[in-house]
This record gives sequence, structure tokens and C-alpha cells, in this order.
Amino acid sequence: MTDDQFDLFVIGAGSGGVRASRIAAMHGAKVGIAEEFRFGGTCVIRGCVPKKLLVYASRFPHDFKTAEGFGWTVPEPSFDWPTLIKNKNTELDRLEAIYQTNMAKVGVQQVRSRAVLRGPNTVYLEAEDREVTAKTILIATGGWPNLDDKLPGIEHAITSNEALDLDRLPKSIAIAGGGYIAIEFAGIFANLGVETTIVYRRDKILRGFDEEMRDAVINGYRDRGVEIINNDVFASIEKTGAGLQATLKSGRTIAAEQIMFAIGRTPNTRGLGLESAGVALDESSAIKVDDFSKTSTENIYAVGDVTNRVPLTPVAIREGHAFADTVFSGEAVKVDHKTIATAVFSTPEVGTVGLTEDEAREAYPDLDVYASDFRQMKEAFSKGEERMLMKLLVDRQSDRVVGCHIAGEGAAEMIQIVGIVLKMGGTKADFDNTMALHPSAAEELVTMRSPARQYSNGQAAS
Ligand code: FAD
Repeated sequence: MTDDQFDLFVIGAGSGGVRASRIAAMHGAKVGIAEEFRFGGTCVIRGCVPKKLLVYASRFPHDFKTAEGFGWTVPEPSFDWPTLIKNKNTELDRLEAIYQTNMAKVGVQQVRSRAVLRGPNTVYLEAEDREVTAKTILIATGGWPNLDDKLPGIEHAITSNEALDLDRLPKSIAIAGGGYIAIEFAGIFANLGVETTIVYRRDKILRGFDEEMRDAVINGYRDRGVEIINNDVFASIEKTGAGLQATLKSGRTIAAEQIMFAIGRTPNTRGLGLESAGVALDESSAIKVDDFSKTSTENIYAVGDVTNRVPLTPVAIREGHAFADTVFSGEAVKVDHKTIATAVFSTPEVGTVGLTEDEAREAYPDLDVYASDFRQMKEAFSKGEERMLMKLLVDRQSDRVVGCHIAGEGAAEMIQIVGIVLKMGGTKADFDNTMALHPSAAEELVTMRSPARQYSNGQAAS
């Protein structure tokens, strides 16, 4: 094999591509990988990791306030955005280097270049103006934030990419969107004292989440002064002396220093040369794959956000790993996309796994809903009203817990563990048999004894 011939060539070094390349190399394959921006991909460079660091930063003002009740005298705190961004970038550099070292250790050849297909076995590396060939090709190019290209003045708007690297903290921001990315960024900015407005085209943010969790976030945001405008969209954006002025379809105007669009993401398939290799797309421009991530072309596979299955980092990693095992170890591995625990890092935070109450009611007509809503113990001395909301949805016929939803501090940490229980088919009796850990918020999950409401044949029982 020459230097330009590989067993596997991976396009895109994000969550899925990096994992696949490492595992394939560990199975003995000669692997190359191309990355056009930075190794680590969206999650590490402009997604989960930097976002969570900003979420941490944004929660300190509340902690400073709570501290006083516990006897601390906290001098008037001040906040420096450039320090946060500088430290965040240092951490990202560290993580990128780790990704590169880990791939190098197992012999993965890394190229910093945009790569496009030039046939089923040929990849063109633009930065080096050369072609490489590979028996198997993996496309792991992720997704890209949508912008409303037809909107007058859209060039003044930013996306999550730029929001993570602003030179200074804006005084005000208006965010288009109601999904988890829009809501998380709104929370970050609002907690840091930025006047924050959310503009959402539907009637309620966080579509797809349990209704009570949506309400918990909406109430929490309203308490923090975030304005949520529903059933409206941006019609135009203009630059003014002081910043930006947006006009909504309803005619309402909003002045804001920054306008951010978080209205969904599109799989990165444009200009990839997929047609040269016969790789088929679905109607959302995502690459169509089978259960083993194989595309319509026999030797080309795709994993992660570019396939638009479940666009989350752990899913991309699992798909990349399963692909590498299937193709390079001879053991066919399918990824199970059901019952995935996820979180919204809003404040209050939401953790969720399994069905929402509405979904559970349809799937399991005899349903018990256990719910607990209480003030967090940490709020005992302050005037804060930070609450915890917990829900267990139980199919009465089998006693299986089919959904769990938590809003409040630590929700993401708790739901990861509850996810194991649901994956194992855990029952309400299993929760009841588990001794509580006291004093904790999580103990509520094993001490809820009577249903808050019940459904029989899908109807609310009186
Ligand atoms: P990516 O990580 O997007 O990697 C694709 C890589 O391919 C990129 O580095 C890109 O530069 C490169 N590339 C694209 N085209 C080419 C080309 N032609 N040639 C060479 N390189 C190319 N997920 C979670 O699980 N939890 C979270 O909290 C979370 N938060 C998020 C917050 C934000 C703001 C965003 C945007 C996403 C978040 N996600 C989160 C989603 C998560 O980042 C993605 O699901 C994950 O990164 C997908 O991995 P991937 O390997 O499919 O693609």
C-alpha cells in the first residue's frame, strides 16, 4: 500500500469520525482522516463542551446570592467575558491536542484539509491538492446551523458558532428558535445579565419535551426576565447606530446588540461530491444509511449528524464505534437508538429519558404519573424559589417505568443514571425497593408512593 492508499479514509474529525478512525486502526486497518476546521468537531470546538463551560459560568450569579444565606459575605462580584472566552479556548486547545494524540498513537494519518469524494474509492484533499484512495470511506461531516437566507439583513445575525466567541458580552440579544440550543444560549446570556428575548415561530418552546418540563423552563426563564415571544418570526434585521433593529412578522420591533439564529441544523452534505459515488440523500439532505450505517454505495458508510438519526455526541460516537467493529473486526454491531437520556442545559436544567406523558398515554393507556415538585434544599436560606420537578411515568399493566423527567439542579447527572434503569426495563417496584439516599433531591425518585394522576384506557381517571 502506498502512502495515498488506505483501508479506511474518514471525512470529518468530529465525535463520530474520530472514534471510528481510532477503533478501525486498533483493529489493524490503515486509516486516514481529513478535517477542514479543527479536530474534535462540533461537540468539542463549537458545541457541547464550550457551551457547558459557558453554562457553568452563567450560574455563578445565583450561587453568589445563595452564599449569603450560608453566612458568606460576597463582595459585589464582577464578571469578565474575555477571561471566560480565553480560558474556554485554552481548554479547547487542550482537548483538540488530546484527540490528535490519541489518533496518532494508533497510527491514524491526519490531514487538515477539506475533503470531497471523487468516486466510490477516491477522496480529493483540497488543501494538499492530491487524491487518496480507500477500500472503505466513512462520511462523518456533521451538520451546520441554518440561517434564513432570504431574510433581509440576515448577514447581521450570528449562530451558535459565533456566540461562543464574541469579543464582548452584549447588553442585549434576541434569539430566533425554540429548540434546546436556542434555549441553552438564552439561559447563558440571561444569567450573565444580558437582556434576552426569544422569538419562536410556534406556540411553545422545547417542542418534543414533556409539557411540564417545558412549563418549568418557561416559568424559570420568565422569572429571570427572559421575554419569550411565541408564534412570530423575524421579518428583517437592520443595522442601527446602537446595534441592530429587528422587525418581526407581527410588526413588532426589537432592538438588540446581537441577534442569534438557532433554528435547526442541516447535515453537511453540500459540495461533498456524493453524486460522484452514488451516495443517496433523504429529503432533509441527510445521508441515507442502513442499520449498520452503510450508505447506498457498498463501501461508503456515514455516521453522526450527517445521517440525521439522533443528533447527539454520544450517538455519533456509538455509531462510529459500531461501524468500525462491523467493518474491521468482523462482528456486526447495530446501534440501539431507543431510550436515550438527554438534557437541556437551561436554568432550570432538564433531564429526560423515555416517553413524554403525552406519548406514554398513547402507548400505554393505563398509565400512572408520579410527580414531585419541591423547593431545593440549597434555597432554604435565600429568597430564591429554585424548584425541582420530577416525574415518573409507569405502565400500570407491566409496572415498567416508561419515562422519567427532571427539571432542576443536577437533572442531567440524575437522568444519566435513571437511563440505565429504563434501559434495563426497570419497574416502579424496583424504584420502591431501592433505599433512599438522604438528604438528596434524587431520593424523591424512589420515595414517590401515590400517583399524582392516573389514566385508564387513555382517559384521565377521576
Ligand atoms: P461533528 O462533530 O459536527 O464533526 C464533523 C466534522 O467534520 C467537523 O469538524 C467539520 O469541520 C468536519 N467537516 C465537515 N465537512 C468536511 C469536509 N468536507 N472535509 C473535512 N472535514 C469536514 N450533543 C450532545 O450530545 N450534548 C450536548 O450538550 C450538545 N450540545 C450542542 C451544542 C451546540 C451549540 C451544538 C451546535 C451541538 C450540540 N450537540 C450536543 C450536538 C453534537 O455536537 C453533535 O451531535 C456531534 O458533534 C455530532 O458529531 P459528528 O461526528 O456527527 O459531527
